[in-house]
Amino acid sequence: MKNFYDFTLETLTHTLEAEGFKAFNAKQVFQWVYQKNIRDFEAMSNLSKPLRAWLIEHITLPQLTLHSHFVAPDETTKCAFVLSDREVIETVLMHHNYGKSICVTTQVGCNMGCAFCASGLHKKTRNLSQAEMILQVQGVIDLTGIKPTHIVVMGIGEPFDNFDHVMDFIDTVNSPYAYAIGKRHITVSTSGLAPQIEAFGLRQTQVNLAISLHAPNDALRSKLMPINKKYPLKTLMKSVDHYHTLTNRRVTYEYIMIKDVNDSLKEANELITLLKGKNAYVNLIPYNPVSEFSFECSEPAQIKRFYDALMKAGINATTRKEKGEQVNAACGQLRHQTLKEETHGLKNT
Ligand code: SF4
Repeated sequence: MKNFYDFTLETLTHTLEAEGFKAFNAKQVFQWVYQKNIRDFEAMSNLSKPLRAWLIEHITLPQLTLHSHFVAPDETTKCAFVLSDREVIETVLMHHNYGKSICVTTQVGCNMGCAFCASGLHKKTRNLSQAEMILQVQGVIDLTGIKPTHIVVMGIGEPFDNFDHVMDFIDTVNSPYAYAIGKRHITVSTSGLAPQIEAFGLRQTQVNLAISLHAPNDALRSKLMPINKKYPLKTLMKSVDHYHTLTNRRVTYEYIMIKDVNDSLKEANELITLLKGKNAYVNLIPYNPVSEFSFECSEPAQIKRFYDALMKAGINATTRKEKGEQVNAACGQLRHQTLKEETHGLKNT
């Protein structure tokens, strides 16, 4: 039996055609599942009886199990889902003035080891399948009744370390027969895997790219983000230049503001030098402390000084308010908390 959610429209079309059915049948099945939310092949009334029988015999429609969820005062909803091998992942629904976005996890744990990140406390045990990414979106819709307008691939894991499944996931959520979320409403964030940035530019010319930068020089970035030792800033920025050539799209740089670590005017000026003349946008993110680390969030006045320096130099920037701090909303914190509780034998919530 195959998991329905692992098919793209293209692979389902080929599979059905190989079985003697019509190409448009794949679109019909997609619409039933993704748009009409029907998970019973027998109830798909415009499909022929032989097709329904074939689907029942060969395809399953499993769902993720919701372990727990928390809703913050700002309505950010954080969900912990259990996978079929009992691994726990997390997914977040955020409310913005421009729409609703779901932040999707791509791996169980993460090997990138960023010094400030709760996700990096648990090493990667495996990649998620396309199905497990799609089912996070479906699980949030089932729980809240809210259909997302945006998808951000910024949850636990390095998306470009699970490249093919993430690209298939994007194709499926974008499909007009599935969730029909526009490519310009989808953002993928990477810690800086240079070769995959170029591959991404070749494959997804409309999807937004965000780079977790967090430091403007190699010495500091290598301390905060070990991936920088493999792909230092010169290599990273060269791949970004190539990406610009391929797509002509602006790149967002995520920059977590950590007190006395990366938030001085010296670093602001280095960042200006690094990004000057590029089609760049900087997201300054107040650090959301993790109890295992000693890092603290920068003072609001220092964030403002940093922001002003960028803007004065003509670098577009924004200061992002961290969503749902009350529900461990920074990347990996709910999963980390859930694993900690299970390790200590606490009752599930
Ligand atoms: S910030 Fe992203 S890439 Fe770095 S450890 Fe956390 S999940 Fe992994």
